[in-house]
Amino acid sequence: MTITKLEDLLKDSNENKIRKADKVAIVGAGVMGQGIAQAIASAGLEVKVVEKSSDAVKNSQAKLEESMNREIARWGMTTSEKKAILSRIIWHTNLEKLNQCDIIIEAVPENPELKKEIFYKLDRIAKESALFVSTTSTLSLDDIAQVTHRKGQIMAMHFLNPVPKVPLVELVRIVETEDETLKKIKRFAVSIGKTPIEVYDYPGYVTTRTIIPLLNEAMHILLEGLASAKDIDTAMKLGFNMQTGPLELADQMGLDEVLTWMQQLWQTLGEPRYRPCPLLRKMVRERKLGKKTGEGFFKYDEDEKIIS
Ligand code: NAD
Repeated sequence: MTITKLEDLLKDSNENKIRKADKVAIVGAGVMGQGIAQAIASAGLEVKVVEKSSDAVKNSQAKLEESMNREIARWGMTTSEKKAILSRIIWHTNLEKLNQCDIIIEAVPENPELKKEIFYKLDRIAKESALFVSTTSTLSLDDIAQVTHRKGQIMAMHFLNPVPKVPLVELVRIVETEDETLKKIKRFAVSIGKTPIEVYDYPGYVTTRTIIPLLNEAMHILLEGLASAKDIDTAMKLGFNMQTGPLELADQMGLDEVLTWMQQLWQTLGEPRYRPCPLLRKMVRERKLGKKTGEGFFKYDEDEKIIS
């Protein structure tokens, strides 16, 4: 018994050495990039974050601080924890700064051309052994990987929002992904406190593919005037033990992102259940994008609590 424990301790400390040695980076610090950076820094690792301009860096830094301040107000974090986390996040505006990184996570918007452009550039900048990770929810990872010379070192990590709070991550591999890549990314996921599940590259994976028709149906029920937004969410929370109702969940994800995923799934899978509800299109046109703009299916105060 004692021997096993000692072995475990040695194994843990070895794995710790590997993980501490890994240099990790994120490209794109919006909703997901900020959350992933916080999760990595909370686990005691340093993380480089690249945004497209100095203004975008300032904006992301301010939003990340705001969200951590909300955590402090809820007694979920201390001021010194916040300081320590922020000190481990190093901001840049130049991809070249990532040339020594071991794991590079792309978290730019769900646009195939943009994601390919980032992977293409990274392939030329990053060291040969570096692993590339995409956060795409619905795009073909295989298609994105085509622009690189390292298909064996490519995976997707599909985190869910809010990343620091949701313990799940879907690990997505393409046919060429090497077992060693999967092993390393799995170890990395566990080291930042996530429980990984494995899934092959297919639009929407498990989570997005399952949740999107539910969100779409809730929006149709609202559009048809069958029940209020509040009652639809209450029904699903109390009836099915959901922590968050579908309409608030869509607001939390960002209605523009939700619309992009629906369009992508509808286009690639051809199933009418993914065809975006006209109400969603209208709200996105009106820039009512959910919590990030203060209004979506519900209105929110500064602490992102529902006002009405
Ligand atoms: P977002 O629009 O909030 O953030 C994207 C960030 O990328 C922005 O800050 C933008 O300035 C930055 N960016 C754009 N071009 C860049 C460039 N050339 N270099 C560096 N940064 C650049 O998007 P998001 O919601 O964080 O989504 C990011 C990815 O994560 C998408 O693929 C999305 O599908 C996926 N995802 C999102 C959620 C969610 O709930 N929002 C959940 C799971 C996965």
